[in-house]
Amino acid sequence: MRPRGSSAPGAASPSERSSRSALTLTAAAAVARIRAGELDAAELWEGYRARAAADEHNAYTWVADGGDPPALGADAPLGGVPVAVKDLFCTEGVPSQAGSKILEGYLPPYTATSVENLARAGAPLLAKTNQDEFAMGSSTENSAYGPTLNPWDVTRVPGGSSGGSAAAVAAGSAPWAIGTDTGGSIRQPAALCGIVGLKPTYGAVSRYGMIAFASSLDQAGPFTRDVTDAALLFGAMAGQDPCDSTSVGLPAPVALPSRTDLRGVRLGVPEELTGEGIEPGVLASFHGALDVARELGASVEPCKLPHAPHALSAYYLIAPAEASSNLARYDGVRYGFRADAAGDLLHMYTETRAQGFGAEVKRRIMLGTYALSSGYYDAYYGRAQKVRTRIREDFDAAWERFDFVVTPTSPTVAFALGAKTADPLSMYLNDFCAVPMSLAGIPGISIPSGLSEGLPVGLQIAGPAFSENALLDAAFALERAIGFDAAPWRHVA
Ligand code: GLN
Repeated sequence: MRPRGSSAPGAASPSERSSRSALTLTAAAAVARIRAGELDAAELWEGYRARAAADEHNAYTWVADGGDPPALGADAPLGGVPVAVKDLFCTEGVPSQAGSKILEGYLPPYTATSVENLARAGAPLLAKTNQDEFAMGSSTENSAYGPTLNPWDVTRVPGGSSGGSAAAVAAGSAPWAIGTDTGGSIRQPAALCGIVGLKPTYGAVSRYGMIAFASSLDQAGPFTRDVTDAALLFGAMAGQDPCDSTSVGLPAPVALPSRTDLRGVRLGVPEELTGEGIEPGVLASFHGALDVARELGASVEPCKLPHAPHALSAYYLIAPAEASSNLARYDGVRYGFRADAAGDLLHMYTETRAQGFGAEVKRRIMLGTYALSSGYYDAYYGRAQKVRTRIREDFDAAWERFDFVVTPTSPTVAFALGAKTADPLSMYLNDFCAVPMSLAGIPGISIPSGLSEGLPVGLQIAGPAFSENALLDAAFALERAIGFDAAPWRHVA
């Protein structure tokens, strides 16, 4: 039986069936088949392109035209398996609007380094994906281009802000995708859509060409059907970049994960992030995953992150403060939309911003401007930065006893469209478990741990800075033992 409203393959001719079955492969399996000469990259490209063009979840803001796929280098490691890219990555000559009306029609003159790295490795641009405006949100309902629908249940949100990327991968209309995570925007939508999402260590991936939200937090990462694909895509996008002075690359190349047990691995369960406020069904799935970890040989002990409950408050000062500065550039002169306003230059600026920005973006600009204003700077922004330092120190102390910290990724499963739009605070609470890692700059991965009420639940595993290889290995072992099927259409609704 098919889930509520999801599109599934119908009757097909034998050749259609064989190309459709290629679309069910993980990206790594597709790469292997292409390289072995068993699968035609051009056919795969056209199969995904057609699917993305026929998408019914409003996951995309732009899809590549039909015709020949982009040319590949002979031994490109990603074999031509195309990638869907969140709208806020600049892509040369292709609309890059960050989900905002103020960037409507903006065609960047250059491509973001991470996207270019992927193209060079053999993952050409398939499509741009829908997102909350300027990545502010947890549901994609703040997109100026309408919300994305969750492929598991089209009456529910896919999470956000990178909800388009998550829905695209969950629906199978893209083999893999990339997004950005400032305070949960990769991990939370991955959790709500039943797929894998990795937020790398801050600095692992270049931010050059990403339309900025909060520069000290923004980090790009992969959305994939499984952990192996996440390692493959992450390895190809990461690296030091002379165009981003905060990028440092990785201490060692990304290895494909292979670990099948967790013997000797010490998991810490922070009581502050695993109790109050987490839905019972989510907690049950989380505890089930901890049992699996124990069976694989891990030790599971409580740990303390005493300042983690303050992370959300600190985040909602720091992120809007940085956003208010980053978004000052949208004045109707340099990019995209300009209001048709009579009068002087200042009037054109203010009208453009009044008409071009949505309500959430305006809320954040006002909050951030206030927090940075003279007389309030120390009381708000300065204090939030002190909390951020404490949060990082909590994690540093945890790494003395634990290899990883584990939590549910999101306190709830996917919620109904419209359920939280009138209450920003309840929307912000979605990122309760994800924001501490963002403030600390450390990596976190979300993998599906099971279902609650027929909807996917995410398990978050976070580790010390630059522990991605170990993190991916642990996630791989757990994924294998949990045995979750990431295709919504194969689950009984
Ligand atoms: N939901 C959070 C916010 O609205 C996080 C967004 C993000 O990670 N880009 O700011």
